[in-house]
Parts: sequence; structure tokens; C-alpha cells
Amino acid sequence: MVYCRILPFSALSNRKLYPESGIEWYIGRKELMGLAKKDTPNYVEDIRRKHRPNKDKLLEKEELRGYVKRILEYNGVGECPVNPDRIARRLGFDIVWMEFKKGSGIDGMMSDRAEEYERFGSKRFIIVDKNSNMHRRSGTIGHELGHFFLHCNSMDDFNEVYTQHTDEANMTIEEKLREQNATRFRDELLMPWFLLKDFLEEREGMLWKELIPDISQAFNVPRHRAVDHMRWSGIKDVPPKDVQGETWYNCDKAFGGI
Ligand SMILES: [Zn+2]
Repeated sequence: MVYCRILPFSALSNRKLYPESGIEWYIGRKELMGLAKKDTPNYVEDIRRKHRPNKDKLLEKEELRGYVKRILEYNGVGECPVNPDRIARRLGFDIVWMEFKKGSGIDGMMSDRAEEYERFGSKRFIIVDKNSNMHRRSGTIGHELGHFFLHCNSMDDFNEVYTQHTDEANMTIEEKLREQNATRFRDELLMPWFLLKDFLEEREGMLWKELIPDISQAFNVPRHRAVDHMRWSGIKDVPPKDVQGETWYNCDKAFGGI
């Protein structure tokens, strides 16, 4: 499991927050006047506004599908695989590839802030572990985009460390909910219903054993995530993760997934 830690906004400047990452991570000095975050397109603001009344709930299928469809339409995406990197760049994100300290368990970081982070010369960026595999990279960016669409606003700085550390016990209910929703967003973004539905219909009658690797390849997602997402999407008869002695997790490992 991958866990996240949202770094709280603090008025304290120059405070090192996450030394395990191997980078110096300072909070933006909001007290400096005249600082503004990067512009955000109207369609993003619109999605944030719509989601606000539901922010204390787990995302419902229809709500999330609607958001993702709108995002993909806006970005001219009509086929799989979805490239979250491209969507992020169009939103003004700089994507930074970095090698994190060994054993840090960190997959990525995201920042959307009013003050430029000097080292990267950017106010809005996603840092991705350059040693992570293809699935994990796009998953990290997809998850961070979930926070951007659902949890950021135009006023407050937002900083997150995306880590495999299992510190769920120290998370508040709100934090857990936010993480679950960002992860659901990631899966729907990468396997949007309007594409997945057609994909499945075209392959009606095919064995799951063949279909799961097909989805994994076409949508560029690990197999176990495809299984999880289809379950969430309400598709009946999706096999358990371990079927006929074949574990989807093991398949992923064999094929370089997570
Ligand atoms: Zn997160």
C-alpha cells in the first residue's frame, strides 16, 4: 500500500519538514505579500466547487466519472492509455524526476504554492521517483492530480509527500478519506468508465485470465489495480485476485508492475 502525508500549511518559514526525502523541503512564506499561485483553468475551479459539498464523503461512481470525463474531454483524450503526465503539464505542473534516498519509501511529492520553490524554480510541481517503474510513475501523477482537482484551492499552499510508509495509524479520518479519494480518482482517471465500458463490451465472452492482462496493457495499469477498479466500477464476476493458483500481484511483479 502507498500512503500519503499531506504537509500542513504553516506560517513558519524555512522549516525542514521531511528530511527523509533527501531534499530540503521548506514551506512557502505566505506572509510575504504579493504572492499568488499559478492560474487555474475554469474547468478545474468548477470541479472543485461541485465536489466541495461532498468533501467529507467517499467519491460516488457517478460523481467521479463525471469529473474525469470532463477532464479528459477538456484535454482532448478520447482513447487509452491516458497520459496523466500530459494533463499535469497542461495544468502548469513541472514534472521533476528525482532519485530519493534509498529506503525512504517515497514515490513522489506534489506542491501547489504561492512562492516558487527555489531549487526547481517552480510554484506547481510533481516530483517523481526516477527509479520507479512505468505504472508507479503514472499512478503517482494520477494520485497527485486527484488532490489537485479535489483538495487544492486557489488560496492555500498544498504540499504532499507520497510515501509507502505505513503511518495510517497517525492519520486523521479526514486525511484517510482524502487519500482514498485521491486514489479512486487516480484509478478512474487511468481507467475512465466511458473507455473501459466499450473496451469490455468489445471483448465480451473473453476469459478474465486473458482480459486482465489486456486491460493492463491497453490502459497502462498494473493488473491488480485493474481488478480493484472493475470491482469498484460495479462489474460483477470479476475474479478474486487469486484465481486458479494465479495471483494478479505475482503477475504484476513478473511483468515489472507493482
Ligand atoms: Zn495523497
